[in-house]
Amino acid sequence: MDFNLSKKHLLAQSLYRSFTENEVKPLAIEVDETEEFPRETVNKMAKCGLMGIPVPKEYGGQGCDVLSYIMCVEELAKECGTTSVILSAHTSLCIDPILTYGTKEQKLKYIPELASGRKLGAFALTEAGAGTDAQGQQTKAVLQGTQWILNGTKCFITNGKEADIYIVIAVTGIVEKRGTKKKEISAFIVEKGTPGFSFGTKERKMGINGSSTYELIFNDCCIPNENMLGAKGKGFGIAMHTLDGGRIGIAAQALGLAEGAFDHTVKYVKERMQFGRSIGQFQNTQFQLADMATKIEAAKLLVYKAAKAKENKDSYSVEAAMAKLYAAETAMEVTRKAVQLHGGYGYIKEYEVERMMRDAKITEIYEGTSEVQRMVIAGNVLK
Ligand SMILES: Cc1cc2nc3c(=O)[nH]c(=O)nc-3n(C[C@H](O)[C@H](O)[C@H](O)COP(=O)(O)OP(=O)(O)OC[C@H]3O[C@@H](n4cnc5c(N)ncnc54)[C@H](O)[C@@H]3O)c2cc1C
Repeated sequence: MDFNLSKKHLLAQSLYRSFTENEVKPLAIEVDETEEFPRETVNKMAKCGLMGIPVPKEYGGQGCDVLSYIMCVEELAKECGTTSVILSAHTSLCIDPILTYGTKEQKLKYIPELASGRKLGAFALTEAGAGTDAQGQQTKAVLQGTQWILNGTKCFITNGKEADIYIVIAVTGIVEKRGTKKKEISAFIVEKGTPGFSFGTKERKMGINGSSTYELIFNDCCIPNENMLGAKGKGFGIAMHTLDGGRIGIAAQALGLAEGAFDHTVKYVKERMQFGRSIGQFQNTQFQLADMATKIEAAKLLVYKAAKAKENKDSYSVEAAMAKLYAAETAMEVTRKAVQLHGGYGYIKEYEVERMMRDAKITEIYEGTSEVQRMVIAGNVLK
């Protein structure tokens, strides 16, 4: 076991760090306030090769490992929760399932475009009536000749409208298993601009305000049969496996948010004077910081361990659930304490920690709520 980062990882980390300092940090407040998708930043990320970090070179990616990609999400999140989730949804939820389940033709058609950042990806599973209970979905795809006709609505889709390629999960029939009828669920690759595919409501949110969260509407949308991803009826498994990987991305986002808020706080408590001394000299402040630092370190070990497990092709479902659960709850606790240690200034936008607190909350909800992570972990404990 080696807890030290390799030279390669340290080099990658310093690259992501300087990109974040130069390109992401200066815009973070503006992105939050204008609620605008940071398209220019995404273009710059594409130029720097950040949109396809774990993608093999033969498909136009950087050929790096999962940990390198995860460290990039972490670094971006230190300054901007929005930018980090754009990268995470694109890489973990769109590129990864095509790489894992796509045919050679699908990979050649879609991966180079996505990995270069010429195109952006998204993933659509959730519906108004089917969130945690993802099997409750109603979106249907019916085969007519060589085309699937897609009808239904997906909600809360990250990178919605901005993305060019969508992994869409839909019901393709009913199957009978041991006397009970069950939905047959399949996955599709759907391109923006396909007739019958449009966008509905844009969500206004508590945080990650520049992230574009949209409703997708399918109205007799024709998808060629060759755009089915994986085998017919395997869509639910594809979605669940994709979310296992996505959870490591969200855990990295949560970790970065906690680290960013912590860094701001350490600087602040050293400078802020009350009662003739810095507030960092009060034991309450020191104990809060000690707890925050310890939890961040624990979260980091879980996140990196899950990334390593995915890289090594070991099972990583439980590791990802533990990493997301712990990192998300740490992000929430650390950002809340960061606001408290800033006093009244913590409540003021200029000091940034209030934004980090608002951004942190979603990490406990999306890509499976904390309750879902507990279900996955408990299921494994009791198996
Ligand atoms: C900003 C944002 C971005 C998102 N991006 C995407 C995306 O890109 N793609 C996508 O497909 N989805 C996306 N989602 C959807 C997200 O994954 C869901 O909101 C989430 O899974 C929870 O589903 P729900 O909102 O329907 O809550 P519900 O399922 O209604 O849950 C409400 C509460 O009940 C709890 N609960 C539900 N069932 C149980 C149970 N059996 N036991 C214990 N507790 C339970 C939940 O944990 C939660 O606390 C996004 C959501 C948001 C807000």
